[in-house]
Amino acid sequence: MRDTILFDIDYTLLNTLVFKENCRSKLSEFLNISVEDICVAEKGYVKKETEFTDFNPEEYIDYISKKYNVSTQDVGKAFFDDENFKNISYPEVVSLLEALSKNYKLGIFSEGFKSFQLLKLHKSGLLAYFDREVTFVIRRKLTQKSLDLLPKGSFVIDDNYFVADALCKAGSFKPIWLNRKTKEKHPDCETVFDLTNLKEVLGNYSKR
Ligand SMILES: [Mg+2]
Repeated sequence: MRDTILFDIDYTLLNTLVFKENCRSKLSEFLNISVEDICVAEKGYVKKETEFTDFNPEEYIDYISKKYNVSTQDVGKAFFDDENFKNISYPEVVSLLEALSKNYKLGIFSEGFKSFQLLKLHKSGLLAYFDREVTFVIRRKLTQKSLDLLPKGSFVIDDNYFVADALCKAGSFKPIWLNRKTKEKHPDCETVFDLTNLKEVLGNYSKR
């Protein structure tokens, strides 16, 4: 049986910051509002939420349309414009998934709203690499209930230190921390700084 690799989405496969910037510039164009004004307006929306993973596009679109007194259809059209999703995957991602999909079962372990997370993968051209059977998009990742859903022994790639940490402690997974920000390594699990050498790092687990 092929081993399973589960990937986080935001800041692991997709540069969500680029997506956000694309959306703001598209909204600015459509609504004739400056990007700065949109950023200021967003602060009012984000204030209610504590984490970006709670971002709900419908709520956001509703918020912006009320704030600027424009139709939700127009805001939605700007927000979901295909161009916003172009080139938002990190440069090494497509070739990596292409190569790994030959030998592994690829899946997702992500937080957030399932329909939006899958739409991002679809519009950025990545969805076809993943097996629905092992695609888990859950509102809260680190509850016992969530961890129980994952196939035991899976590799799990995540840019969040605390996710890697919790999976190490859970004991039945092979977590890999993706640290795109610094050169720090996780004391207990494999660490990579981008996904270029992921294939070799997967092999390190069998040498442990
Ligand atoms: Mg992430």
